[in-house]
Amino acid sequence: MKVMKFGGTSVGKPERMASIKSLITKDDEPKIVVLSALSGTTNALTEISAALADGDRAAAKQRIEALEQHYQRFIKELVKTETDYQKAKDILAEHFEFLNIILKISFSEALNKDILAQGELLSTKLFSLYLKEQNIPHVWLAALDFMTIDSAGEPQVGSIRVKLSQLLKSHPDTKLFITQGYIARNAKGEVDNLKRGGSDYSASLIAAATESTVCEIWTDIDGMHNNDPRIVENTRPIKHLCFDEAAELAYFGAKILHPASIWPAQYFNFPVQLKNTMEPDAAGTLIESQSDEEGVKAIAAKDSIIAIKIKSSRMLLAYGFLRKIFEVFEKYQTSIDMITTSEVAVSLTIDNDTYLNEIIKELEMFGTIEIDTNQTIVSIVGYHISKTENLLAKVFDSITDIPVRMVSFGGSQHNISILISQDQKNRTLQLLNKGLFE
Ligand code: ADP
Ligand code: ASP
Ligand code: MG
Repeated sequence: MKVMKFGGTSVGKPERMASIKSLITKDDEPKIVVLSALSGTTNALTEISAALADGDRAAAKQRIEALEQHYQRFIKELVKTETDYQKAKDILAEHFEFLNIILKISFSEALNKDILAQGELLSTKLFSLYLKEQNIPHVWLAALDFMTIDSAGEPQVGSIRVKLSQLLKSHPDTKLFITQGYIARNAKGEVDNLKRGGSDYSASLIAAATESTVCEIWTDIDGMHNNDPRIVENTRPIKHLCFDEAAELAYFGAKILHPASIWPAQYFNFPVQLKNTMEPDAAGTLIESQSDEEGVKAIAAKDSIIAIKIKSSRMLLAYGFLRKIFEVFEKYQTSIDMITTSEVAVSLTIDNDTYLNEIIKELEMFGTIEIDTNQTIVSIVGYHISKTENLLAKVFDSITDIPVRMVSFGGSQHNISILISQDQKNRTLQLLNKGLFE
């Protein structure tokens, strides 16, 4: 079995669905194909939800209409026969009727998740219809029947494995399955999701659950690049990464991979292959357990970071002080990314501000608190990077005029992270690219 996941741009146009068909029918190997929503759809659904949360039904209605028009144009080009066109219209009718009904009911978080789930349901149903018209035998699987998360939002790997294998067993002659990325059922049985970009995570969880030989992530670029191609010119694809490197890059902001998508591959030891749907012959990036060379591989950046400084000349040297601080973050289920300490203060960063006010209030018992918002973590990643000669000198020589708020080195052997103000991010990435790769 292998898993092939196609992202938003890869399914975003009717002709792209045709390319996917070619890619998934190239050989006879059994496959589970995981699809994202059409590009732009989850953003549109997020806006619809936000408008409803604000009580602006008119704006929500307008956004729903615009989205529906987009899909009406899409299906006109997707299928050939009148019968299939009618079937495609029925699919749209079902999901847009749902969106129009929610305009009339009161908004809640559960409803928000229902709205966000429409994108992947639509893309997979339309793709399945297209495959049927093309006489490609396959089965459409409802991810909500097997993909589950617990009350902390963590996937329930054991249960996913049992449910999915039962589903697959009930179709013993089927070699091709189509299912939705991103969406899942939560501990209350409601529709939920694996957070933005979560289809990558779905794919790797499905690969783990089915003991797949490989998890292929098909997207709009030829693999992981050595820097953010949206910000830096002349970035290069990286042919090979080990799990640790890929996990650090994904966690520290390389948008091509969902932050959690590597751990299932690492734990269950299957390779992840990043490939370009638009250029299927390009090598892409192979991610596996073996590392090849040591040294700097790539730079990534994670935005919207909040830095918290706790200053306490009285307490810092006392044992148990850090534990008390960590307990506050644990209580509010907020994870810490970076941490540095000095004799009188400890600085740390978080990326989730849901409970920021509560956290600050509790931390104030330990000392004076300073908060810096709109920070960015820039991470320089590479296998055993910490052994690279003169690396710190090279990093800091490249960015002499960028004010650095925090530095983290030695925590992992594969990563150096610096914290800067978000408005310095683009320059920092460009300067580091020059200093480290050119
Ligand atoms: P998909 O919709 O297929 O999941 P995403 O938009 O989530 O695709 O991820 C692919 C995009 O990630 C690329 O188009 C690119 O702009 C962006 N990206 C950011 N950093 C990197 C990187 N280091 N290497 C490759 N792509 C990156
Ligand atoms: N459609 C979802 C999103 O845009 C999930 C994904 O694309 O991976 O975040
Ligand atoms: Mg993505």
